[in-house]
Amino acid sequence: MMSDFRTDQQWDECPPGELSRLAKRLKSTERRALLKSQMGNAALCLVLVVGGVLWASSLIGRTGPGGISCKECLAHFDDYHLHLTTGAPIEPIKLANQMQVHLDHCRLCRGEFDQRFPGVLSTAMATRAALGQQFAMFAATSSLLLY
Ligand SMILES: [Zn+2]
Repeated sequence: MMSDFRTDQQWDECPPGELSRLAKRLKSTERRALLKSQMGNAALCLVLVVGGVLWASSLIGRTGPGGISCKECLAHFDDYHLHLTTGAPIEPIKLANQMQVHLDHCRLCRGEFDQRFPGVLSTAMATRAALGQQFAMFAATSSLLLY
């Protein structure tokens, strides 16, 4: 049998301010739950951002076109620029070829190189193409002379 709360003697009058304290406690509990959920989302975002940065940095550190990483390529920009513009030797010798292959295939490094040394790469590529044509003509003429 249910007891009627109005007549039940176990119930007392609420002390003054009890209901507003109860309301405040409920609101703070609600705020804490909301904060907890927002912190969870923020933590998830942080994990995703950190993961993305680590992934991107692992790509940068990885060996790329020409057998060198973007980091290595960037480190030799000045040497390679000097090599292209003055013909100065680059150490080790195979690095010049590695830089050329890397810059031919890596848009990131090529863009960075072009920004630092505008026009140098395109001039070098044009020179290479012209030399390639001259060599092809020389080879063709030489083979004609042989027969
Ligand atoms: Zn690169």
